[in-house]
Amino acid sequence: MTKNLSKIAKAKKIKYFLISFVDLFGILRSKLVPTEAIGEMQKNGAGFAGFATWLDMSPADTDMFALPDPNSLIQLPWNKDVGWLASDLWMSGQPVKASPRVMLKEQINKLNKKNLKMKSGVECEYFLISQDGSSIADSRDTQSKPCYDQSALMRRYDLIKEICDSMIQMGWCPYQNDHEDANGQFEMNWDYDDCLITADRHVFFKYMVKSLSEKHGLRATFMPKPFSNLTGNGCHAHISLWDKKINKFIDNADKLGLSKIAYNFLGGVMHLAQPLTAFFNPTVNSYRRINAPPTKSGASWSPSSISYTGNNRTHMIRVPDAGRFELRLMDGSVNPYLLQAGIIAAGLYGLNNKIDPGKPLSCNMYTDYKNYPHLKKLPDIIEDALDFLENSKELKNALGIETINSYIKLKKAEIENFDENETFDKRSSVTKWEKNNTLDC
Ligand SMILES: [Mg+2]
Repeated sequence: MTKNLSKIAKAKKIKYFLISFVDLFGILRSKLVPTEAIGEMQKNGAGFAGFATWLDMSPADTDMFALPDPNSLIQLPWNKDVGWLASDLWMSGQPVKASPRVMLKEQINKLNKKNLKMKSGVECEYFLISQDGSSIADSRDTQSKPCYDQSALMRRYDLIKEICDSMIQMGWCPYQNDHEDANGQFEMNWDYDDCLITADRHVFFKYMVKSLSEKHGLRATFMPKPFSNLTGNGCHAHISLWDKKINKFIDNADKLGLSKIAYNFLGGVMHLAQPLTAFFNPTVNSYRRINAPPTKSGASWSPSSISYTGNNRTHMIRVPDAGRFELRLMDGSVNPYLLQAGIIAAGLYGLNNKIDPGKPLSCNMYTDYKNYPHLKKLPDIIEDALDFLENSKELKNALGIETINSYIKLKKAEIENFDENETFDKRSSVTKWEKNNTLDC
């Protein structure tokens, strides 16, 4: 039975609801609705002018409606008055095809038809920076190898604790928090779950980290590469396919512990990695992180070539353990729904076409890449990523030609705006345009 939000509000003393959605650029948008109106909104949705968001609509279009999913409800741990809801977009009685959450649900349905569901976990790295974004917030955080630095981590204890306590309260089962490889960079991990739940939580996590950082007088950014000499913000994902309670990726007889299904799924992701970068690395700034020159810490921790391996972090795909793989391509600007939808679309292509990913490599890809000239390279700039997407019949078939064309059109307009103001050079410092347009991604 559908949960009645009015009744839940009374029981939990929720006074307002944020009815939210994410557009094609991953921007989180909402209406703040008083509890008195939630019954009507649950039935008919909250109205929005689609043209005012990144969805390739016209100002003449009729209203679109965000229909909240009551299962996604989160009572803000730091402000119990407010309940947050993820929504699906509808227009003229039809789901909006370019609504990223709708896109993900469509891919989930395709997997369900094969009696499979995808479980995933995401690792969202972020920086704590000064208010104007010109430097990291902690001037004492200067080690050349700052990863896991206890002192720098504990100087942020009040904030990290509040975020982690919130995750415990929400039932996400967080299990570790650390200082990451760049000065000023942190990561917090919580349990994997069904991919729609993970996508909603990913959206909420970014909102929560930004909000609580503000509360503590700080600013958080998930920007892929806010500082050109430091390691960037990745958003690695761990992936497995399940049939009810059975992990279909496990095969203990295999050297890496992966089944044939896992290899085919992984093969599909590798096969379509080039066009997928348009979704996984969606900003101009993203291309400072992949194919990056070495950073102050000695490694960029991001891929350049399309390869997979066992437990080795220098490749695009790592198999750290039996029964799952880690895709290390995505960065902090990735749209949480398109991350999951893109992986399913490519993985299904791999399953349906029995794509063989070949043998895993065990080299240090950061230093030995020249020995593997046959490997396909990731695109070097966003324009190339969009060209790959434009030419990808596979992704157009899987995700819908119209939606992909809309996405490309909107992204090209954005790049035009960049080109009018700046030139992209990954060896020079991050431009003002990138900061203005990506710090709050
Ligand atoms: Mg990390």
